[in-house]
Amino acid sequence: MDSRGFDSAGRVFSNATEMWAEEIGSTVTATTPTAAEAEAAPTAAAAAAGNGGAEEEASGEGKRKEWYSKAIAYWQGVEASTEGVLGGYGCVNDADVKGSDAFLRPLLAERFGTAKRHLVALDCGSGIGRVTKNFLLRHFNEVDLVEPVSHFLEAARENLTGCMDQGEDSHKAANFYCVPLQDFTPEEGRYDVIWIQWCIGQLPDDDFISFFNRAKVGLKPDGFFVLKENIARNGFVLDKVDNSVTRSDPYFRELFKKCGLYILSVKDQKELPEELFAVKMYALVTNQPKIQNSGKRRRPKNSPRMIRS
Ligand code: SAH
Repeated sequence: MDSRGFDSAGRVFSNATEMWAEEIGSTVTATTPTAAEAEAAPTAAAAAAGNGGAEEEASGEGKRKEWYSKAIAYWQGVEASTEGVLGGYGCVNDADVKGSDAFLRPLLAERFGTAKRHLVALDCGSGIGRVTKNFLLRHFNEVDLVEPVSHFLEAARENLTGCMDQGEDSHKAANFYCVPLQDFTPEEGRYDVIWIQWCIGQLPDDDFISFFNRAKVGLKPDGFFVLKENIARNGFVLDKVDNSVTRSDPYFRELFKKCGLYILSVKDQKELPEELFAVKMYALVTNQPKIQNSGKRRRPKNSPRMIRS
C-alpha cells in the first residue's frame, strides 16, 4: 500500500511499509513480493525463526510479539459488555445487526438455495458473542467462536447458554476457541460462512494474508468469508491505543488479491453516527465469481433506451 497514513498521535507515515517496519520490524506489506518471490528470498524473520531468541529479537519477531501483547492488554482492560466491545458506541448495535442481515440473507439464498440445510458459521474476534447472539444464530444452526481475550469468551459462553438448544431445528453456539486469529487454523471444511467483524485491524498485513490462506481450508465448497470492517478514507490510520490499523478500501482490495480472494458482493453499512469511520461489508470467495455482484444491477452500456418524442 503506497498511500500515506497517520497514527492516533498525528504522526504521518509516507506508506504502510514504513509504518509496519517501525511497528513490527516487518517489510512484508500489501505491496511486497508474492509468497513465491518471498520464498526465493527469505526474510530475516523467517531465517531467524529456527535460531532461537536472540535472532528473534533482532529480526523483529520481538516487536511483533509486543504489537500483539499490547493489543491484548488493552482488550483485557475493557468491560465485557456491548458498550465495551463497541468502544462506547453500544448504540450502533441495532443498525449493525440490521445491515448485516440485509447483506447476508440474499447471499445465503444465492449460494445455498432455499431448501433447509444445516448451516455452520465461525465468528472471528467474537468478543462477548454479540454478533453470534444477535445475528449469526438466526441464520446458522451452529456457530463457533474464536476470541483471544478470555474474559470476553467467558462472557460469550454465559450470554449464549440460552441459545444452546432450540428443540429439533437447533441453533447453538458450539465451540469456543480462546486463540488469536494469527494462531488459529479452522477445522477443514466445517464452515458455510466465516464472519470477521471489527477485529482484522489487529493483524499486520503478512498475518492477515496467512490467516485468510489458512482459513480457506475451513470453508465448505460454496462457503464464503464476510469481512465487516471500518474503512479509512485514504491509506490507513494506526491506533496506538489498541494497536490496530484501519485500512482504506483500496488497501483491503490489494490484500484480498494477495490472499487469492475475490469480492462476491460489497455493501456500505448505513445509519452510523457521522463521527465514526465508514463501515463496509465484503463477501469474499476463493474462486472468481461468474457474475461480479457489486450490490447494484448494471444496465449494459449499449442496451436500448426508450425514445421519447
Ligand atoms: N466482533 C465483535 C468484537 C469487536 S471488538 C463485535 O463486533 O462485537 C474487537 C475484538 O477483537 C475484541 O474482542 C478483541 O479481544 C478481539 N481481538 C483483539 N486482538 C485479536 C486478534 N489478534 N485476533 C482475534 N481477535 C482479536
